[in-house]
Amino acid sequence: MSYIYIVPIELEDDSYLEPLERFVFQTFHLRTKKKEFKINLKDAFDPSRVQYNSSLILRQLIIKPPLDAEKILGVLDVDLFIPILTFVFGEAQLNGIGAAVSSHRLHHRYYGLPENSGATTDRLLKEAVHELGHTFGLIHCTQPKCVMNSSTYVENIDQKPAELCSLCQKNLKIEKNDTISKGFPFSWWSKKR
Ligand SMILES: [Zn+2]
Ligand SMILES: [Zn+2]
Repeated sequence: MSYIYIVPIELEDDSYLEPLERFVFQTFHLRTKKKEFKINLKDAFDPSRVQYNSSLILRQLIIKPPLDAEKILGVLDVDLFIPILTFVFGEAQLNGIGAAVSSHRLHHRYYGLPENSGATTDRLLKEAVHELGHTFGLIHCTQPKCVMNSSTYVENIDQKPAELCSLCQKNLKIEKNDTISKGFPFSWWSKKR
């Protein structure tokens, strides 16, 4: 049995982890496991940018993956960057094991608006599925009605749905493992949990 590990990293608010786990299962049909890893955020901090290098965080996340980890998703709330961009909402290894996503720029309050936690959760679910989609081999999709459509600004995230389009669904590289082959429909799972 392999899992998508959901790894909270120094989160101030972890209320969106539960909907996140549910939605990740619903999308990829792989069970999730929430677990903290030893991650030293300070090592990824860039004092000149006052931001965290997401690639360095990813590297720490995947350094010793648990044997039953199909994917590892780090969830953060600090401001992430990669050197060629001013910021990123998240980062992932294409066809790899690791991905990371941050809620930092997904809050209304970040843009001087009244906070709306529902909207933040929606945005985080989309970005988490988007980054995990990359780890399952998906590249950016030109369909505006697809979560794999790339988002430069938070408005782009709001405009796209949380779901994969039919073509991306088809291109998902998921091993049909025991989660599905043993007959483990989501409805049953969600009732049992
Ligand atoms: Zn992307
Ligand atoms: Zn698509």
